[in-house]
Amino acid sequence: ATMPPLLSTIGNAGRHGVLVKSAVALEKFGTTNLVAFDKTGTLTEGTPRVAEVELVAAAGLTTEHVLALAAAAERPSEHPLARAVVMAAHEAEVAVPHSADFSSTPGRGVTALVDGATVRVGSPVLLDGVSPGPAQAQARAVVSHLEEAGRTAVVVTVDDVPAGVLGLADRVRPGAAETVAKLKELTGRSPILLTGDNARAARRLAQEVGITDVRAGLLPADKVAAVRGLQADGHRVMLVGDGVNDAPAMAAADLGLAMGRNGSDLALETADAVIVRDELATVPKVIGLARRAHRVVK
Ligand code: ADP
Ligand code: MG
Repeated sequence: ATMPPLLSTIGNAGRHGVLVKSAVALEKFGTTNLVAFDKTGTLTEGTPRVAEVELVAAAGLTTEHVLALAAAAERPSEHPLARAVVMAAHEAEVAVPHSADFSSTPGRGVTALVDGATVRVGSPVLLDGVSPGPAQAQARAVVSHLEEAGRTAVVVTVDDVPAGVLGLADRVRPGAAETVAKLKELTGRSPILLTGDNARAARRLAQEVGITDVRAGLLPADKVAAVRGLQADGHRVMLVGDGVNDAPAMAAADLGLAMGRNGSDLALETADAVIVRDELATVPKVIGLARRAHRVVK
């Protein structure tokens, strides 16, 4: 007996490494006409490394101290940047103190109490909240310099005084450029990039993979607004992402697709489909399978 075409296509997608959760999700693969990608962990491998630790002289801390405080604050976080910071402290063999009162803001960073001080680690937007002065000016200059070099700059403040800036480097996922080109061919429109990272790092990555429409510095709610705007323009949007910060936009998109390997639990749960082996090349493949299946059914 032959299986109904939709079921056999879901099975086929599974063999390509994409877990499609429902027949409706499969149909949406076939009707997608615009693909939006998250950056970190989606178009990049998502295992960034700390490449530079720059000190803000005005704060007077050592490199080891800045790394220790940052790692202490980041330890409870599952964000890839947080894991990189903890790894860097480990590799530098600095003792990481305990922290308390951890909290995190998606798309922004983390805060914790370490050795009696409030330590914040996160996006350069943090610098807008510190007192104006030489430490703020120095930190801003370091951020610009790092971002110019294509790094993601992560700011560390201690009791709201900027103490250091970390430069994080990530690698483009193999096959990203080919996948972008293929999707452009299939959907007739160039994929776009929606990211919480800074515009300079985002544009550099976009250029490497062939994306021209880049929207950077987005908080989770901004990603949702971007998806809704594209839908209002008549697009049927697939959002490919990996993080907690992508879950609301995945829910808003016509089709949410999560990177499975390092994807956050919330992203995996929210998504309509999961790329199990994190191979981007499977996205255009499953679009092709879904289109053929629906042609058979209709
Ligand atoms: P993306 O959309 O590229 O996946 P995110 O939305 O996860 O990026 O993060 C956006 C920005 O927020 C990061 O580039 C970083 O500046 C900051 N950020 C978020 N979480 C953290 C964290 N745990 N540690 C340091 N920075 C963070
Ligand atoms: Mg991400």
